[in-house]
Amino acid sequence: MSGILETVSCLDGYDPNALRVDKAAAAIRACLSPIKGTEKVPVRESLGRVLAEDIVPSIDVPAHDNSAMDGYAVRFSDLQPGETALSEVGSAFAGRPFDGRVGPGECVRLMTGAVMPPGTDTVVIQEVVRKNGDKVVIPPGQKKSQNVRYAGEDLEAGSAVLKPGKRLGPAELGLIASLGIGEVAVKRKLRVAFFSTGDELASVGTALKAGEVYDSNRYTLYGMLARLGVELIDLGVVRDDPAELEKAFTKASAQADAVITTGGVSVGEADFVKQLMAKLGEVLFWKIAMRPGRPMAFGKIGSSYLFGLPGNPVAVMVTFYQFVRDALLHLSGRSDDYAIPLLKVPASQPLRKVAGRTEYQRGILFREGGEWKVRITGQQGSGVLRSMSEANCFIVLEHERGKVEAGELVSVQLLDALG
Ligand code: AMP
Ligand code: MG
Repeated sequence: MSGILETVSCLDGYDPNALRVDKAAAAIRACLSPIKGTEKVPVRESLGRVLAEDIVPSIDVPAHDNSAMDGYAVRFSDLQPGETALSEVGSAFAGRPFDGRVGPGECVRLMTGAVMPPGTDTVVIQEVVRKNGDKVVIPPGQKKSQNVRYAGEDLEAGSAVLKPGKRLGPAELGLIASLGIGEVAVKRKLRVAFFSTGDELASVGTALKAGEVYDSNRYTLYGMLARLGVELIDLGVVRDDPAELEKAFTKASAQADAVITTGGVSVGEADFVKQLMAKLGEVLFWKIAMRPGRPMAFGKIGSSYLFGLPGNPVAVMVTFYQFVRDALLHLSGRSDDYAIPLLKVPASQPLRKVAGRTEYQRGILFREGGEWKVRITGQQGSGVLRSMSEANCFIVLEHERGKVEAGELVSVQLLDALG
């Protein structure tokens, strides 16, 4: 397997030891090939999946011209400048059309969704109509074609309404059903294997020994991955031991399209992992100009992409959201725009920031007197996972930016938009 270093080293501004966030994201993107496999699933099961075919209506939706309101279908040419008295010759309901033709001087009572009776072209809402014996009196001021929904107005037969690469949400499920389609082709789910590395890690359910910490990264990762709708392969905790790590990487890359690990990429540990990686595939070790999350590995083992995230719990989340999420969605075959929106809001307090790196401070977006502002959570250390739990957004402080004064606009990414 080769090609990753070749691909990224020709990118502008590629410097593995001081890589800007945007360059790192571009380098990853340049190396990815989306998965190809597809499967057919019933419409309901396609929720959250990536469409793999054109959806082309074979019918117009709506299939007939119909009424948008409860009222009377009339011939516009019958209407006089003043009031017009028409004879009611029948009625039409949704699903029960009027059979017959409406002649001059006639009208039909109809309900919302009812097919427009032949001969009529305009609907007058019932609220403005007056009954006079067996006549229906239409007031002046009606407009031709008012309150009519036309066949094909929503979807037109023959032209694709959904394209491959679109993530199917509730609206798309309804739209597909409105065409009478019961099954759709979607991309197969991306398979993602993950494990934590570290001699100090204890698994939930065991007692902590001296110097140990519970492995929380695998839970955070599970949550972030589950929200992306990928197939998960949890390979547990792996000791900092070459033989065990090799086994884990081999197993993971054989089963998964992408492998995510945490820990083991910081300077003190990188050498030994690096050697192992070099043996198994092609892996790049980066120092990214960001905080938190400076060290990160990216590469390929066999046909599987590897994302070696830092061990610090907050750094895991930040690097996942800034790099891995985008990569996994791209690998999944998405072609719609899934970039995380950046909103601009004033900072309610000064923020410390050093120019020359991108910072992702944990923020709380809050409302003060009708205006949205952002402040930081307390402790910003990259090991303080509590800061992620207290936060509802990242405050993204751009590479060149220095310290921020209170009242300055800053960019935020809502955590709830990251799913
Ligand atoms: P590392 O990147 O392996 O040097 O780890 C950096 C820091 O993150 C250390 O304090 C580790 O104890 C902590 N850490 C590493 N992996 C995990 C994990 N899976 N869960 C919680 N903390 C971790
Ligand atoms: Mg470690």
